[in-house]
Amino acid sequence: MATLTKLDDIVSLAKRRGFIFQSSEIYGGLASCYDYGPLGVELKNNVKRAWWKSVVQMRDDIVGLDSSILMHPMIWKASGHADKFADLISECKKCHSRTRVDQLKNKNGSEGDVNELSNKVCPACSSVGQFTEPMPFKLMFETQMGANAEDTMTLYLRPETAQGIFANFRNVLDSTRVKVPFGIAQIGKSFRNEVTTKAFIFRTREFEQAEIEFFCEPGTDEQWYETWKAARFAWYTDLGIKADNLRFREHDADELAHYAKACTDVEYKFPFGSGDWQELEGIANRADYDLRQHQRGMRSMNAWFEQGRDLMKVNLVDEAEDYHKGPLSFYDDQKKKHYIPYVIEPSAGMDRSTLAFLVDAYDEEEVKGQTRNVLRFHPALAPTKVAVFPLVKKEGMPDIAHNITDDLKRYVTAFYDEKGAIGRRYRRQDEAGTPYCITVDGDTLAEKTVTVRERDSMEQIKVSVDQIKGYIRDKLDM
Ligand code: ATP
Repeated sequence: MATLTKLDDIVSLAKRRGFIFQSSEIYGGLASCYDYGPLGVELKNNVKRAWWKSVVQMRDDIVGLDSSILMHPMIWKASGHADKFADLISECKKCHSRTRVDQLKNKNGSEGDVNELSNKVCPACSSVGQFTEPMPFKLMFETQMGANAEDTMTLYLRPETAQGIFANFRNVLDSTRVKVPFGIAQIGKSFRNEVTTKAFIFRTREFEQAEIEFFCEPGTDEQWYETWKAARFAWYTDLGIKADNLRFREHDADELAHYAKACTDVEYKFPFGSGDWQELEGIANRADYDLRQHQRGMRSMNAWFEQGRDLMKVNLVDEAEDYHKGPLSFYDDQKKKHYIPYVIEPSAGMDRSTLAFLVDAYDEEEVKGQTRNVLRFHPALAPTKVAVFPLVKKEGMPDIAHNITDDLKRYVTAFYDEKGAIGRRYRRQDEAGTPYCITVDGDTLAEKTVTVRERDSMEQIKVSVDQIKGYIRDKLDM
């Protein structure tokens, strides 16, 4: 079993095969921004589809949402992001590069005390103990909205999709028949002006999140938290991630946000560097913090106008005494009571999981004295599901192969290829992770069968032409 041990190897593989390119490369590149190429966009779309299918389509208790990236600035006041969403950074006095304090390592390689900088090594120039006092660095990108000076205001590109869900909690309750316990799920772009970069698509400044806010009755939250941890772990392994490469990491009490009751990360063991375990997803018990904060935000709109719509000058007003009956409360008509639901939040990164699926699928093996490179994607994630080849470009084989391809394209991504020796064509599909190849050959003309080759076992079987569509759809479960 071969793995990729250097990040550079995965970067070059991703580029060579058209999965991922540096953004704006022809202009020298834009740091921490990436583009998904022809195979990459299929892979990432499949990851998103698999997530949506598992959390929305297959469940009765979750509905979907697609909220806008630009939102009212008071959302970020109420959520706490406007005041607190910053990383503590420190500048190296020697080379002036800035690093997140929590990511600095001691001279002996240990993590040590985060606040003790005298022994920390600058990752850019290797100087030891040359750091300035830590300072907060704001992570939200600002932009201006409005054409006229009097109505122009500063907005923020959202740093998470979750707040769009809380802001629509009432709309969803009023327009659908959901009742607590229920969830709202959303996939969308988020933006953070990250300090630490150079981690390929693991940490980018524009990225895609898939988030669920699952609303439940206080008192049932701990049970739901455990249920969601198990469900989200299983999602990765069901889609082929090796269980040995996945683990939970429970946050220590001093790592938790003040309002959070508990938080666990799902971590993946990336094989690069020292083989670091890194976060793919966080699952948090956020109690009733967010909805209560937005009720305060809604009550603070006068203050916002009075302060000339300057977010930094606004203070949120206190919570109403009967907040549990407020506009973002839920009325349980069986128990005849109002309450603010508790929230379990599984928050996943679609780029990070795409990277994990790519790395985990990579394999090299010796076949007849030659190295075979293969991406063993789960069929649901494979960018191309089936490739169809005429053995030779004559005797009507291309026409038959074209017909089979067109027929399959209505259901799955199918790719026609007639160039090069048949062995080379198989290898190219192995490298792209295509689970099945169909070859139209002499037997097709004589016996109306095609040869189906399976990617992982390389086994070949004959299937009759009129059953090929059903056979492939059955195998792919599509
Ligand atoms: P980190 O500690 O790595 O910066 P975080 O704990 O701030 O991440 P969350 O705010 O919990 O991350 O975001 C939820 C998920 O969104 C993460 O688990 C990750 O998959 C994804 N994510 C967050 N920031 C980025 C980023 N800059 N690039 C790519 N994905 C990201």
